[in-house]
Amino acid sequence: MVFLIFVLNLFIISSANHILSSPIEYLKGVGPQKAELLKKELNIFTFGDLLGHYPFRHIDRTKLNSINELTPELEFAQVAGVLQHYDVVGQRQGKRLVATLRDKTSVMELTWFQGITWVQKMLEVGQSYLVYGRLTFYNGQPQIIHPELEVLSAPQALTKNFLEPVYSTTEKLKARGLGGRQIGKLTQHLLGMLRERDVPENLPEAIISRLKLVSRFTAYQQIHFPPSPTGFDEAVKRFKFEELFIAQMRVNLLRSSRHRFSKGVVFDKVGDLFNTFYKEHLPFELTHAQKRVIKEIRTDTARGKQMNRLLQGDVGSGKTIVAVLVMLLALDNDYQACLMAPTEILSQQHFTTIQGLLEKMQVPVKLLTGSTKAAERRKILKELEEGHLKILIGTHAVIEDVVQFKNLGIVIIDEQHRFGVAQRARLWQKAATPPHVLVMTATPIPRTLAMTAYGDLDYSVIDELPPGRQPITTVHRYESHRSKVMDFIRAEIDKGRQVYIIFPLIEESAKLDYENLMHGYENVKGYFPEPKYWISMVHGRQPADQKELNMRRFVEGDTQIMVSTTVIEVGVNVPNASVMVIENSEKFGLSQLHQLRGRVGRGADKSYCILLTSSKLGKDARERIRVMTTTNNGFEIAEKDLELRGPGEIDGTRQSGALNFKLASIVQDRQVLELAKNLVAELLEEDPDLVSAANLQLKNFLQLQKGAVVWSKIS
Ligand code: ADP
Ligand code: MG
Repeated sequence: MVFLIFVLNLFIISSANHILSSPIEYLKGVGPQKAELLKKELNIFTFGDLLGHYPFRHIDRTKLNSINELTPELEFAQVAGVLQHYDVVGQRQGKRLVATLRDKTSVMELTWFQGITWVQKMLEVGQSYLVYGRLTFYNGQPQIIHPELEVLSAPQALTKNFLEPVYSTTEKLKARGLGGRQIGKLTQHLLGMLRERDVPENLPEAIISRLKLVSRFTAYQQIHFPPSPTGFDEAVKRFKFEELFIAQMRVNLLRSSRHRFSKGVVFDKVGDLFNTFYKEHLPFELTHAQKRVIKEIRTDTARGKQMNRLLQGDVGSGKTIVAVLVMLLALDNDYQACLMAPTEILSQQHFTTIQGLLEKMQVPVKLLTGSTKAAERRKILKELEEGHLKILIGTHAVIEDVVQFKNLGIVIIDEQHRFGVAQRARLWQKAATPPHVLVMTATPIPRTLAMTAYGDLDYSVIDELPPGRQPITTVHRYESHRSKVMDFIRAEIDKGRQVYIIFPLIEESAKLDYENLMHGYENVKGYFPEPKYWISMVHGRQPADQKELNMRRFVEGDTQIMVSTTVIEVGVNVPNASVMVIENSEKFGLSQLHQLRGRVGRGADKSYCILLTSSKLGKDARERIRVMTTTNNGFEIAEKDLELRGPGEIDGTRQSGALNFKLASIVQDRQVLELAKNLVAELLEEDPDLVSAANLQLKNFLQLQKGAVVWSKIS
């Protein structure tokens, strides 16, 4: 039945949508050859795609600047003047075309580095031109490089009141007569052909009127050819909302269809293991946040649907114990559990911790990594298949095809961003019914963002640290004070503490970083000579075993100092380390600084984070350092990070594409996002399948979108 409605809708809509889905070659002035280019260069396949190619700005043709009032504050300028002369000057790379333009007040230069021959043909001394472009100053003189240029026949043309759209285009398109202006002409022509009904609404009427949005048709008209600045704003407001609303709708639908259709292992018993551990072996009282999260997971895993949950908790918030309790829950329901970590050292640490916690309960736990010996490996594989081994901890090694479980009930992944989607998919094949998946991450993601980026996952957060933590003291020091910093470190080491010294790792300049690190290492060695002091060094160019060895020596306390690039960022636990020194900390992003800082403050001792920088700091770097020295709260830092850098850098979201909007910005339009989120929730609460007439146009739109929501079972 549902399927039938789907087919019918599709039919109705595809006829109604006829015009917008017409291939672009059928637009007057395009034709097959230009169409080919438009597809290749700008991804414009249909009339609708052309409408969606918004101008990136408008030129206010009503404003004219006189040359003598041009100042560096003015970013763009439009000047009308007479061409005095022009000339090609310079050689080879320096070759350029320079023209002088004069108006009533003064003269300015126009410069071209490219297309010189072509531009030259257009220029005529004595002719009046209207020029527009980004203003630069050279020796105090105003100039425009590669200006837009137009012959000015009659000055009164300027009195027209209009905002002219400017479109992005490419060199190839320009060469075929599809520059920005031509694209504008095509768009204008297309809009002229269309009527309101040709551009079907995709938002429910109720929302449109509630938010006072202009119709989709009007919005297209006004975003390309705004009758006024307000008209443009109205269009942008509508499209921003639309983008965020549709994106949110998609993730919510994905999630709810997973909730409804996917089969999952049922953990409905809370049995002996969980209870005994909880009552007798918990080493500490759980925080409220930990209790809440465990409850959320219990509810979720008991429903017979597959759980797909992101557990976010700041470094040190106690995610491991949650993992242990959840694994015991699986065991109580006669299932096996598996915990994956991204590195050997982390798996080893988890193994030691968890084995220690479960010691008195006689629960079989084993570790499987790349370096597990063949005989031991064979034994583990056998026990897993037979079901005697209940908990497996390890690295990627656990998802290899040879690893088969008897009845795997849950997989917990620590520090998710090291695992790709493909790797996760392999887990699915390890059991007839897909196991529950819990992904634990310490990368703080602001809530609103998480809802959109990971909206198809369920989401739990530990937003509270265990009691009694001593806050880490963070200070900023200039490099010129290095020897004082080293004195401080020495005093800490002499008290028995350990110290991290971190160097930046910037992919583009790997070689430079490496030299920088080596230089730093020699320097540290000078301050801390053997045999009184021992230093571990870890970096990306080392063979894996050497890395492990150096790590291990530090973890076991054989070395007091760890000199490293950011490879140690994720998860290592050395409670005795109490000082984190970050070299060139102006080069790090906020989240990364916060993650690094989380390596200390794990034991009983007072801990410090020292941010070393050069004396010259940019505005953003100064702000990052300020934030770091004033707060320890990961969520506050994440919010600030988002503000400073935008969402592009946040782990895992880039591939998802969930955050790539044409107009909306997750940062600037957060309120709109919040609004969209609430409206989506409200709407789906009332009409989860979008079957009501009021939501039909929305449903149709979603079904026709590229990569549309899969309405049936999602596996
Ligand atoms: P993370 O969330 O960074 O993985 P861990 O699970 O490693 O954090 O926990 C950090 C430290 O805090 C561990 O030493 C752990 O034993 C301790 N811990 C966790 N929960 C609590 C709690 N509720 N009370 C006291 N200590 C706790
Ligand atoms: Mg951890």
